[in-house]
Amino acid sequence: MAKPNVNYGNLKQSYLFRDIATKVAAYKKAHPDRKVISLGIGDVTLPLAKKVVEALKAASEEMGKAETFRGYAPDQGYDFLREKISEHYKKRNVNVDISEIFVSDGAKSDLGNITEIFSRDNIVMIPDPVYPVYMDTNVMDGRKIIFADANKENHFLAMPDKRHADMIYLCSPNNPCGSVYSKAQLEKWVEYALKHNSVILFDAAYEAFITDDKLPRSIFEIEGAEKCAIEFCSFSKLAGFTGTRCAYTVIKKELILEGFSLRDMWVRRQSTKLNGVSYIIQRGAEAVFTEEGMKQCKDNIRYYLDNAKLISALLTEKGIYHTGGNNSPYIWMSCPNNLKSWEFFDLLLNETCVVGTPGSGFGHNGEGYFRLTSFGSRENTIEAVERLSKVL
Ligand SMILES: *Cc1c(COP(=O)(O)O)cnc(C)c1O
Repeated sequence: MAKPNVNYGNLKQSYLFRDIATKVAAYKKAHPDRKVISLGIGDVTLPLAKKVVEALKAASEEMGKAETFRGYAPDQGYDFLREKISEHYKKRNVNVDISEIFVSDGAKSDLGNITEIFSRDNIVMIPDPVYPVYMDTNVMDGRKIIFADANKENHFLAMPDKRHADMIYLCSPNNPCGSVYSKAQLEKWVEYALKHNSVILFDAAYEAFITDDKLPRSIFEIEGAEKCAIEFCSFSKLAGFTGTRCAYTVIKKELILEGFSLRDMWVRRQSTKLNGVSYIIQRGAEAVFTEEGMKQCKDNIRYYLDNAKLISALLTEKGIYHTGGNNSPYIWMSCPNNLKSWEFFDLLLNETCVVGTPGSGFGHNGEGYFRLTSFGSRENTIEAVERLSKVL
């Protein structure tokens, strides 16, 4: 008799975005004349850079000609793209060999699949509040999970404590909290991981939003991280590739557990289960690293960051505690008057027709907090800020 993976029975249903959609739909039906503005958008909205579109078109043309047609892509990604990624790291004085770079269709898939090269006996440490992928993928595997508190005391940057963990998920700049680890803080995590022989799974999906040069964009800027960390990066937020799909993961050769090279294991895993990423898409991703392509991507990021600044400035003016809004597209605010996350959601929707995301949906420590995002248009962000200023 075939048995299912019963761990799936332990997954908690997330009703967060469904519940938001239901409430917004009911509100619109009752007030068809009012304009609802969403500051809850978790996806990029600006179109791909011109330079990227040109590269996608040119690569499509190549695929249509016998002389330039290409079949299966190399498992780890084309050298032309991995060389650009390696140079991108070099700008931060980080040495990453192209053999340590794995191109894939998304950071979410890599974050979800990476658990395959780890034992089920490992204890996993996950920050609370959290991006739900880290948690669900480990529940599916049946691993023991412990939580690292992110809260007002540590400005929503969880730090290590006395407890032992084998695998640690960190996300900086953080989704949902918008907070960014300093170099000194990441040094503490690396020190902890080396002492405990644990591995840090570092989600750097938002590294391109960091404008403060003192803040680390890569865990590999920290000495010793090559022996205890895996880094996940993506073109999704860097270059608007959420619908185009391209990402990369870095595992250094120095990362060895009980004689097993995790890099070699990941080579084996990917070559067994992945047939590479589309040539066309990898040419598009390569164009992100041209001078013109990068400038166009940075202009888009600047646009989102300026939106974030408008929201953050209002909260500062009103004396409302928040993290993010700087070096991040997210703003994580304390709900005024001790309101609970959903109470504040209802108040905002009913009194201002502005939608955000209740923090309680991201974990226990999110109760009493609320996530706003900067992925909307400038016009809508300005209007939303004006409306919010009347009720805060
Ligand atoms: C958007 C996002 C990613 C990127 O995932 P892709 O699959 O590459 O689109 C990864 N981590 C976090 C926290 C994100 O918000």
